[in-house]
This record gives sequence, C-alpha cells and structure tokens, in this order.
Amino acid sequence: MFTRVKTEAELERMRTSGRMLATVHQAIRKFAVPGVTEIDVAQLAAKELKALGGTPTFLGYYGFPDVICISVNDAVVHGIPKNRELKDGDLASFDFGVTYEGMVTDSAFSMVIGKGSTDVQQLISVTEQSMLAGIAVLKDGVMTGDIGAAVEAVLNLHKYGIVRDLVGHGVGHSLHEEPDIANYGVAGTGKQLSAGMTIAIEPMANMGTERIIMEDDGWTVRTADGKPSAHFEHTVLITESGAEILTTL
Ligand code: MG
Ligand code: MG
Repeated sequence: MFTRVKTEAELERMRTSGRMLATVHQAIRKFAVPGVTEIDVAQLAAKELKALGGTPTFLGYYGFPDVICISVNDAVVHGIPKNRELKDGDLASFDFGVTYEGMVTDSAFSMVIGKGSTDVQQLISVTEQSMLAGIAVLKDGVMTGDIGAAVEAVLNLHKYGIVRDLVGHGVGHSLHEEPDIANYGVAGTGKQLSAGMTIAIEPMANMGTERIIMEDDGWTVRTADGKPSAHFEHTVLITESGAEILTTL
C-alpha cells in the first residue's frame, strides 16, 4: 500500500507515538554503558514503553522475537538482543518501532558505548548528517530520488559504503508502506510524495564495503568485510514547504 495522506487525527496519534519512541531512545542513550547486556537494554525499552502506553511494533513482526533491534559493530540492522555485554568502544545501533492507537512510528540511532575511535565517531556523525540532508529536501511534491541523492551526496564525501539492499519507506498505518526510499538516487526521479504523507528515512552506512551478508539466525544483517556500520532513522511528516520530524522530543 502506498503511504496515504494522513488526517489530522492520525497525525496526532503519530506525534504521540513518535514522542514515546524518542523518550525510550533517550532512556537507552543514558543506560547503554559498558557492561550492560543487550537483553538489559531490550528489557528497559519494553518497560519504558509499557509505562508510556505504547505497543512495541517489532515484536512478532514477521516473527521477530524481541521489541527492539540491537546491531553492534559489523551488524548493520535487525540484530536480535543477546545476553552479551556492550563493551567500551562498541558502535551500537538501536532501532525501535512504536504503535499507538493503530499508528506506527519507526526510528533508529547509533552511538558509541563508552569512548570510541575517531573513525567510528565520524561514521556515526556523518550517517546522522546524511539522514538530516534527506529530511532537508522534503516538501510537497518531492521525489524519492531527491531524498536518495541528498543522502548519497553526504555519504559519498566520506567514501562510506551505502547499503543498497535495505531502504527507507512509507510508514503510519503499518510499519512498512510504499514507496521504497533508497539512500542513493538521482534527483527528479522516482515516486512523487505529497504533503501529509509520512515516511521513514534511514541511511545505513558502512566504514568499508557496501556489501552485506545475512547471519544464520535469519535476521542479523552484517557487513561482508566485518567493518562497522551505522544507522539513523526518523519518521517524518512531509509538509507544504518542509518536514516535521515525528520521532523527536
Ligand atoms: Mg527502523
Ligand atoms: Mg524503517
């Protein structure tokens, strides 16, 4: 289903959902220190979201076994939380989805656990900048290729590997709606989007090769060369002249 123009009532529910998601992300940022396990983080996310009144969208989605995806170092996305301690210098990505009164938001961020190398810090910072560059071109009538071109331009400056097989998407009534929003592309091409539509922009950038492999668990996506990967994602509302980030405080 192509993502629909949302009603004001639907948008209010998405704003509430997005605030819940951002609140949980903020709690994770403080909690994720060396020695904490991935399962500890997942339990925190579940507990915080329950207290806020939201439902974790990922749990059971195509059979996903947890409330959150935690992807560390060479894991790109879709990592299943394990009984494994986060270590000083790890690059950890947290991808979370919240359903509130039938409306969904989706957001991810990467951070260093403890103190990371300059290279890893830069990968994280540039990946976030590339997401913001994609958001900056949004307005009524924007093409998916405009978004991809803006994201790609930032990542290409640093010669990072841009993951091609996984993409952004429409979101709202369900977690993944059409169209696909690639993190590369040619301005002026692709599908046209309108004010009132809600989309998830989510660049995944690798320190090395863009190639990825699937782990035996059937979920965890890793870089083919074992180098680290970062991931940022916001759910945003396209407006007449710009955008409103829904998954923020
Ligand atoms: Mg996500
Ligand atoms: Mg997404």
